[in-house]
Parts: sequence; structure tokens; C-alpha cells
Amino acid sequence: EGEKEAEIDYVFKVVVVGDSAVGKTQLLGRFTKDEFFLDSKSTIGVEFQTRTLTLHRKRVKAQIWDTAGQERYRAVTSAYYRGALGAMVVYDITRRRTFENVARWVEELRAHADGSTVVALIGNKADMPASRREVAADEAARFAEEQGLFFSEASALSGDNVERAFLTLLEEIFAVVS
Ligand code: GDP
Repeated sequence: EGEKEAEIDYVFKVVVVGDSAVGKTQLLGRFTKDEFFLDSKSTIGVEFQTRTLTLHRKRVKAQIWDTAGQERYRAVTSAYYRGALGAMVVYDITRRRTFENVARWVEELRAHADGSTVVALIGNKADMPASRREVAADEAARFAEEQGLFFSEASALSGDNVERAFLTLLEEIFAVVS
């Protein structure tokens, strides 16, 4: 808070995409506020949230965009992707269908975002009991490798791996732009 624009060396736009209810809003809230919001749709209508951090002695403002529910109407616009240096494609490890749709999200990203956009695949809700799991971590890791994506499972609920996933993405963007 209270950051002056003048102190910022870089602004990194990162977009979060994936099917409805995979936990995009919660992941974003976890990273920017270190909170899990009980009222999950509290951020509807908000386009992005920011967090400023230091990477390699540079002040980096991460501007993380949320679809704010647009994906339900398949209406994620090219304006949403424009200028994105990074992207997180999120699926829910307990709903196979959301993983099957990842390929479509990756295609959409490739179509709208810049060729050098760094993409991470996130399997969210890793806190759920093993009996609920519908996507094996190995399978997702293999898919990610084929597609040249970073991969991590995470939990917005427990916070597990969320910080690490975002930081890895931001570090990778830093390496591309600096
Ligand atoms: P979005 O539509 O992709 O933005 O998804 P939301 O962030 O609104 O989350 C959808 C639902 O999944 C909500 O009921 C959340 O409370 C729940 N949720 C989100 N992340 C997690 C998680 O890591 N673990 C569990 N168990 N539930 C989660």
C-alpha cells in the first residue's frame, strides 16, 4: 500500500484463466492479500488486483487479472489478454472436465496473447481428499511438459504452493523482460 508509481521498475500483467469455479478468484486473493474469501464472488466486477514485490532488487508490480466470471459466457475478450506477460491456466483436480478444457484455454491464450507470454498450469484444490481426485498429478505434469508450461498443484484454501507458483511465474517473466 502507498506505493508510488515512480518507485516501480516493472509492471507485469498476468491473466488467470480456466473454467468456472476452479478457484481462480481465490488463488488471486490468496496471492495478493494472503486470504481465502468465504464469500467467493466478492471480487466480481473487479478487473485486477496488484501486489508489489522486489525481484533482483527491482520493484515489480504484479497486476493479476481475474475474468470476473466472463468465462461462463465464453466471453473472455481479447482486451483481457492484451499485454499479458504471464498467464495461469487453472483447473480443479476434482473435476476432470476442467482439466480436459485446459487445452482450449491454452489455445485461446496462444491466439490472443503475445508469443512470449509465460504460462503456468495450476491444478487447484489439492487440499481435497484423495478419493475426490479425478486428475493424477503425473498426467497433468506430462501434459504441461508437452505444452512447455510450468506445472504445480496448489490449494487456494490452505495456501499450499500458491506463493511459490506465482513467484515462479513472475521470476520467469522477469527473465524474459530484463
Ligand atoms: P472461479 O470461478 O474460478 O473464480 O472460482 P472461485 O475462486 O470463485 O472458487 C470456486 C469455488 O471453489 C468456491 O466455492 C471456493 O470456495 C472453492 N475453492 C476455491 N479454491 C479452493 C481450494 O483450493 N480448495 C477448496 N477445497 N475449495 C476451493
